[in-house]
Amino acid sequence: MRPTGLLHLGNYLGALQNWVELQDDYDCIYCAVDIHALTTVESQADTNQIQSNIEDMILDWLAAGIDPERSIVFVQSQVPEVMTLHTLLSMVTPLGWLTRVPTFKEKVRQMDETEETVNYGLVGYPVLQTADIILYKADTVPVGRDQVPHIELSREIARRFNNFFGDTFPEPQAKLTESPLLVGLDGQAKMSKSLDNHLDLAATPEDTSKRVLTAFTDPQRTTRNIPGRPEVCNVYSMHQMFSSSTAVSAVYSECTTAARGCVDCKRQLAGSINDFLEPMRDRRKEYESRPGYVREILDEGGKRARAIAAKTIEEVYEKMGLAR
Ligand code: SF4
Repeated sequence: MRPTGLLHLGNYLGALQNWVELQDDYDCIYCAVDIHALTTVESQADTNQIQSNIEDMILDWLAAGIDPERSIVFVQSQVPEVMTLHTLLSMVTPLGWLTRVPTFKEKVRQMDETEETVNYGLVGYPVLQTADIILYKADTVPVGRDQVPHIELSREIARRFNNFFGDTFPEPQAKLTESPLLVGLDGQAKMSKSLDNHLDLAATPEDTSKRVLTAFTDPQRTTRNIPGRPEVCNVYSMHQMFSSSTAVSAVYSECTTAARGCVDCKRQLAGSINDFLEPMRDRRKEYESRPGYVREILDEGGKRARAIAAKTIEEVYEKMGLAR
């Protein structure tokens, strides 16, 4: 995950919740990818925040239930071997594979660049991502549907390396995570920090309630005595995710008969969301009460990750005939 600072409820449902569950079935490695954050950097101002963003994000992971005793939790740049593998994999990756990736073209357009002017780092993003995966010989990567082409590319790069230099890497498989899409408070299709329509995991119950009260509802329900349409109301869709089934049925019937007002409905939703977030808040408090603990976790995770990485690089050097 790129270190973008505090995470929101959409990030939790879209990725973190699943990461927490995977710990029961897999040996997991979770990495804050700070080198990837540099691929779109435009000035030093962009890099000044990276370290504090990492700490905020890792605290959110831990609060969500990522367990550093069971999983390896670290920061990408703690393991310089990833940059070595990136360079070596770039020797077996045709440029056309990278420039054809749809997300690359989209990113270039968004940045108002051309394929001629864009930084090489952005072109090589999927190669670095492949290095992130196969350096640890990971065989499974939990991703959303939009990331599947990247994992396919990682498989092809690993396969090509294996064909050139002999069997070295497992071909990583995408593990698709089906997660409910959380709409933004303003009714936009996605909850996002840049649109300021989000609910931070780390927010206090009071702040969460205040923000929930700003949520858009059925636009046709301009007064309380007009019956609402829950099926077009994002407050209702959030009730479906966070409230009990009895509460959801009551919301539906009371909304469609104008027996409840939107403000009360949002207050009830805020209560459900705060109940949902409470165990995370408790865990966060525990971690926060131990100053320096997040850094200790990252140091330990970095050591464990490096031990695996060093072995892989030794094998790669040998297979590629490099000096050791
Ligand atoms: Fe939406 Fe609730 Fe208002 Fe109905 S009562 S429109 S579900 S906020």
